[in-house]
Amino acid sequence: MTIEHHPDEATLAAHAAGVLDLGQRVALATHLRGCPRCREWARAMEGLGGEIVDNCSPASMPDDALDRTLARLDEPAPARLLRPVEAADAPRELPDFVRRYAFGGWRFVAPRVKMRPIHLPAPGPTRVFLLKSAPNSRLLQHAHTALEMTCVLRGGFSHEGGHYGPGDFDLGDETVMHEPHVDDGEDCICLVAMQGDLRLKGFWGLIARPFVRL
Ligand SMILES: [Zn+2]
Repeated sequence: MTIEHHPDEATLAAHAAGVLDLGQRVALATHLRGCPRCREWARAMEGLGGEIVDNCSPASMPDDALDRTLARLDEPAPARLLRPVEAADAPRELPDFVRRYAFGGWRFVAPRVKMRPIHLPAPGPTRVFLLKSAPNSRLLQHAHTALEMTCVLRGGFSHEGGHYGPGDFDLGDETVMHEPHVDDGEDCICLVAMQGDLRLKGFWGLIARPFVRL
């Protein structure tokens, strides 16, 4: 697996600083799992952050802070974390930590495109789902109203930014207009972390807008 497309440094730094929401962290961690280069970069950033913390002046905490933290160790885990998706029912490329979440069923998005929601234990502004597109399918030209992170698990696609295969990471936002074309030969399965909505373009986009559900 040769990874050609990585998260940019600002996104990796945001991940290392812990300012991404849970859905975005799931996407970043999925990429980091398969990318030694980004793992090394993230470790360096975390080390730098640790040095900054070491050099900060200590702040006082409530007297019971340690007791309250230790008490949380006895709390039961959220139920959703205890119902992993059946291994045979999930793409083999999906990291184990993602399999621990609860999954919805496959839903129609557009002709030859389906999605399967992944239910995070703490819902936030980012939705996470698997997106499966049939070989040689083409999505309508679109942009996003907010950030969209895509991790390719299987197969591949191309758009104006190049070709994306297994392990690659794609970041879309309101400034990026693209029209992905799925490779021939096999389904393309991606893990997607998405805020906001799609903005479909052109005549066919206007026609399809009521039928595209993501
Ligand atoms: Zn990378």
